[in-house]
Amino acid sequence: SKAKLFDENTKVKTTFKDVAGLEGAKEEVQEIVDFLKNPEKYTSLGGKIPKGALLVGPPGTGKTLLAKAVAGEAKVPFFSLSGSDFVEMFVGVGASRVRDLFKQAKEKSPAIIFIDEIDAIGRARGKNAMSGSNDERENTLNQLLTEMDGFGTNTNVIVLAATNRADILDKALMRAGRFDRQIHVDLPNLTERRAIFEVHLRPLKKVDGLEVDFLAKQTPGFSGADIANLCNEAALIAARNNKKAVDKQDFLDAVDRIIGGLEKRSNLFS
Ligand code: ATP
Repeated sequence: SKAKLFDENTKVKTTFKDVAGLEGAKEEVQEIVDFLKNPEKYTSLGGKIPKGALLVGPPGTGKTLLAKAVAGEAKVPFFSLSGSDFVEMFVGVGASRVRDLFKQAKEKSPAIIFIDEIDAIGRARGKNAMSGSNDERENTLNQLLTEMDGFGTNTNVIVLAATNRADILDKALMRAGRFDRQIHVDLPNLTERRAIFEVHLRPLKKVDGLEVDFLAKQTPGFSGADIANLCNEAALIAARNNKKAVDKQDFLDAVDRIIGGLEKRSNLFS
């Protein structure tokens, strides 16, 4: 089967109202939305629109969601690929895929390019010399750097990349004119978890009087993705028990199940 080069979504429906919490991060990317909507407003005074920003934070905190919302808010196409797709690739394929991605985005500009798990291609060069695919990874990274340097500031393509390991990235990626802005996307606090629950409870049929505050207090350390998963699990548990609406006990059972899963996940590494 022929691997897909990258994803292209020209009608992104996601907007900032789908992203709960993350007020600071949303404020920072609001500027990127403005650049994409009114580039001339910024370039007319001689300013250079940034080419890239790095979204940094733990898994499941909404980095992909936020990047997509930038495209949705600006009403521009969203081109995306994941660094992990490059790990086992034949020589030359990674670099040409990056080249095609930028070519397509430029043709459809203004546009957003999103690179998830950029650390898979953007780890510091010259390390892990033992790993066989290293040369190909370096080729891919070099192509990415070349593309970012190559497009002018009036191209109106902004590259967002996500990582949970900014510390291992090649410093060349963070140089001026590349990913020279970092936006932190952290695990949600109590207030933010409440807001995330509001979003993910909305589609559920639930009993009256279910307290969002109670749910938020039961879930310290949960990411947005964990909360989305929890709400879904609770609905499935309620259905299995032939209930007509999801109740507090279903959520507590789902919390137990998910915490069990999280513990298993962390035991793998301990
Ligand atoms: P990863 O690093 O694992 O790729 P991520 O940070 O990109 O994770 P997303 O893929 O954006 O996380 O989040 C997964 C899902 O979790 C989202 O599609 C959404 O349903 C939910 N989610 C995560 N964060 C939030 C949030 N802040 N508000 C609402 N939903 C969220």
